[in-house]
Amino acid sequence: MEIVTKFDLGQHVYTIVAGSVEDAKECPLCEYKGLVHYSSPEFEGYIPCPKCDGTGIIKSIESVEWTVIQPFEIRGMHITTAGIKYFVGAAYYAESEMFATEDEAILECKKRNKHETAPTDDEGEE
Ligand SMILES: [Zn+2]
Repeated sequence: MEIVTKFDLGQHVYTIVAGSVEDAKECPLCEYKGLVHYSSPEFEGYIPCPKCDGTGIIKSIESVEWTVIQPFEIRGMHITTAGIKYFVGAAYYAESEMFATEDEAILECKKRNKHETAPTDDEGEE
């Protein structure tokens, strides 16, 4: 079986990543304390809050923002049943997150960021 790859080893590509904008709120169960009172026939006392994992805060992802990373060299390929992953810079990326030019990468980011609120259908069928 011959495997066709879109990119070559040593090629420099632009990658895109999704950065999440997080919001931290007070845990409604323990109210920032990180501990909750627990009682059972065997034990009574304070235990780490199971809702927030003892941190006292609940993190939620408010929005996702795609950004372009400066070009890195492809240093490896990893073929899986789900497709090819490329080792670029210091992490693995899928072909759909890699671009030969910065313009393409920026365009894809804009498309993905816009998609969250208003899906467009002017790009034709894929
Ligand atoms: Zn809590």
